[in-house]
Amino acid sequence: MNTEAPGILVILSGPSGAGKTTIVRKLLALGVPQIELSISATTRAPRQGEQDGIDYHFLTKEEFERRQAAGEFLEFVEVFRTGHYYGTLRSEVEARLAEGISVLLEIDVEGAVKVAQQYPEAITIFLSPESTEELERRLRDRGTETEEAIERRLETAKSEMGASSWYSYHVLNMADAADQTVTQLADIIRQEKEKRCSK
Ligand code: 5GP
Repeated sequence: MNTEAPGILVILSGPSGAGKTTIVRKLLALGVPQIELSISATTRAPRQGEQDGIDYHFLTKEEFERRQAAGEFLEFVEVFRTGHYYGTLRSEVEARLAEGISVLLEIDVEGAVKVAQQYPEAITIFLSPESTEELERRLRDRGTETEEAIERRLETAKSEMGASSWYSYHVLNMADAADQTVTQLADIIRQEKEKRCSK
C-alpha cells in the first residue's frame, strides 16, 4: 500500500459574493490539510488592497492574449461580459502536482468544466451562499462594484448555481459561520487525500 499522500487538485467554485475569498484565506491559514493556492491571471483592474502576484497576476489584455497563444493557460474564460479574461496558468498547477503538492483552484463554473475534463480525478466543490438575498447584500456591502456590475454578477450567480449539480460536493456558506465552512472544506480535502493514500 502506498502511504505517501499524493497531491490532489481541488476546484472550488461559487458565485461572486458567496464568500469564497474569505473562506480560501482561512483554509490556507489553517495549513491542514496542506494545499497551495493557484494564483489566477486576470485582465481586470486590481481592487483596493489587492496585490499583483498575491491576489492575482494582473496582466494587460495583450499580455494575457500573448501568453494564451503560447499555451501557458490550463483554462481561461471571459467573464461577466465585461471583456475581462481570467485564467489558470499551467505554471501554477502542473509542477506542484508532479511533486505531490495539492493545489486549490478558485475558478468559475465554465473554467471548472474545462479543468475537470483535463483532470477527471479533480475534486470539485461548489460553495453556495445562504440565499440570493444574502449574496446581494454581500456584493453591495463590498462596495467595489457599480450597480450595473452588481446586477451582472447576480445574474451570473443565478446561472452558476443552476449549473452546479455536477460538482462532487456542495457546501453552504452560512452568513457568520465562515469557520464552520472552512472546517467542512478541510474535512473534504483531508478525506479525499486519505482515500487516495489507501488506493
Ligand atoms: P473576481 O473578479 O470577483 O475576483 O472574480 C470573478 C470570478 O472569476 C469568480 O467567480 C472567480 O471564481 C472567477 N475566477 C477567478 N480566477 C479564475 C480563473 O483563473 N479561471 C476562471 N475560469 N475563473 C476565475
